[in-house]
Amino acid sequence: MGEYESQVVAFARYATAQVAHWDRVVALHQADCTGCCRFCGRVWPCDEARHSRRMVDHFSQWALTDEQPAPDPNLVRPYVNG
Ligand SMILES: [Zn+2]
Repeated sequence: MGEYESQVVAFARYATAQVAHWDRVVALHQADCTGCCRFCGRVWPCDEARHSRRMVDHFSQWALTDEQPAPDPNLVRPYVNG
């Protein structure tokens, strides 16, 4: 049972980091004044914006929802940077 719970917690941390990551992608891909994406230049909404919004919705189901701010992915997964 303890192992199961730790996996749930680990996945919740993963989902929280995923939400933080995709939130940053959503923030990059916004419409500019011409109706195109200001980041990749494609017609709004671009594929990245639509995909990253879906990812935020998807992982928000499991993300931690307490009062703490979303963890910095660089702190959550320090080993990624080697
Ligand atoms: Zn874009």
